[in-house]
Amino acid sequence: MSGPTTLSGPGADLHARGVRYALASFVDLHGVCKAKAVPLDHLGAMLTGSELFTGAALDGVPQDVSDDEVAAVPDPASAMVLPWRPDTVWFASDLQLAGRPFEACSRTILRRATEQAAAMGLRFNLGVETEFFVLRRAADGGLQPASASDRLDKPCYDLRGLLDNLGWLDELVQAMNALGWGVYSFDHEDGNGQFETDFGYAEALVTADRVTFFRLMAREIARRHGLIASFMPKPFADRTGSGAHFNMSLADLGSGENLFTPDDGQPGWVSELGRQFIAGILRHAPAICAVIAPTVNSYKRLVVQGSMSGFTWAPVFICFGNNNRTNMLRIPGAGSRVECRAADSACNPYLAAAMLLAAGLEGIREGLDPGDPNLVNAYRLSPEECSARGLHALPRTLGEAIEAFAADPLSRRVFGDAMADAYIAFKRDEWSSYHGAVSAWETDRYLELF
Ligand code: GLU
Ligand code: MG
Repeated sequence: MSGPTTLSGPGADLHARGVRYALASFVDLHGVCKAKAVPLDHLGAMLTGSELFTGAALDGVPQDVSDDEVAAVPDPASAMVLPWRPDTVWFASDLQLAGRPFEACSRTILRRATEQAAAMGLRFNLGVETEFFVLRRAADGGLQPASASDRLDKPCYDLRGLLDNLGWLDELVQAMNALGWGVYSFDHEDGNGQFETDFGYAEALVTADRVTFFRLMAREIARRHGLIASFMPKPFADRTGSGAHFNMSLADLGSGENLFTPDDGQPGWVSELGRQFIAGILRHAPAICAVIAPTVNSYKRLVVQGSMSGFTWAPVFICFGNNNRTNMLRIPGAGSRVECRAADSACNPYLAAAMLLAAGLEGIREGLDPGDPNLVNAYRLSPEECSARGLHALPRTLGEAIEAFAADPLSRRVFGDAMADAYIAFKRDEWSSYHGAVSAWETDRYLELF
């Protein structure tokens, strides 16, 4: 395993470390990496944008087949030598077209939002909790937890389950730490076969790069153990889903001081600036939901109970509050940050962070007030109590969410027209493709009912 990479001249130390290939990587609409590999001798050219791509071949890189290619311009600061393949180095890239930023590039979209924060003297700090399943394909084609003994009804924090999986987990955590991410804990999550690895927060662009790389790395390390790492939000109806809780705060750009620390030092809360940030997100929550919970399957996670015995721990209402996990926006016990619990592991972290940040900044600019926090178990509120408290439900389907995204002017402001149009078209199509399929649930229920 190798430490974090700094480039002093194209490839100088990389060559000495035995690196032979460099990847100019960027993401499609799903946040999945696309790249070209170049031999290290060509790194200098690659860093200036030599690698060209036809956007029309990808989801959500809106281009016509006849358009000029986009160029991936790697960010040298993002370099990561693949811990499982130390002869190859990965770079997160921004896309350019004809020498100018490509408006619809996910990383550029987040960069634009962070530049708006910077213009207000703010830095967006972000930590993302990565929940995911690690599964084994059984002989009959079914999916089982990685370890056969992982069968408890309540496997959360189960030590035996953790130890049984320590082989691949240890490899993953070592790899994360070799990259300098500062893992501070990892555990067995609430579903059989489900795990979470938590690492230090950083500036949003760095964290989005890491989450992107993490999915690639977890998948690869699991694969080497004959396992499947899945970031599908809700693979099993009777188990909890995989959230990607976004822990957010704004710091003073100059001093680095956390500006969400409560003004009166009151523990477990956030400052007035933090409350305004919350209010901006609440205002745009339905549109944001289409990006932080981006799939048909995401909405099967955002339920109270489903067919499982316990709760899902996923939010269902547009609300904020204290350390209570039923809130969409939770202020964890230590305070000074806001955790968005509606985000799931399938989100494109650049687009998700950009929407959340832009909405929060709007709340600050307009001095919005989020109202009273929700301090009760939102899962137990009756519809009457919800309306008395002015609580609205999060979108219940991708169809509802994408229409909210299409109707909210924030979406275009953040994504730009081309990417907003591409996102809306892709997600409407995803929803109608799902809606057009007849599922086993329907035939089981209706075929002979009437
Ligand atoms: N897995 C839950 C979710 O879908 C969250 C559990 C937790 O609080 O860590 O969001
Ligand atoms: Mg968790």
